[in-house]
Amino acid sequence: MPRPVRRHTPTHADGRPLKITFGEMREMGLRGVLVYCHCGHHVALDADRWHDSMRLSDLEPRFVCQACGYRGADVRPDFERGKPQMAVMGYRNTR
Ligand SMILES: [Zn+2]
Repeated sequence: MPRPVRRHTPTHADGRPLKITFGEMREMGLRGVLVYCHCGHHVALDADRWHDSMRLSDLEPRFVCQACGYRGADVRPDFERGKPQMAVMGYRNTR
C-alpha cells in the first residue's frame, strides 16, 4: 500500500513547525519580532535580547497573553521595523 506523500517539515516535539533562528533573522537585517495571540493582542519586541541559536518557535510557549491569559503565542519577524524607510512611510500623524 503506498503511503500518502507528505512533505517532511521539521517540527517541535509538540508538532509546531520549527521557525528560523534569531541569528538567521538578524542576517536578514531584521531587529525585532511581533508576538501575536489568537485573541488579536500583539506586541512588538526587540530581538536583541535573544541568542542567535534560539528559534522564534522556541520562544512561543513562553509567552502568556496580557489580554486573555492564553499561553503560546505566534512569534514572527517584524519585517516593517527591519526596514527603516518603510517605518517612516508607515508613520502617519493622525492629529
Ligand atoms: Zn490573547
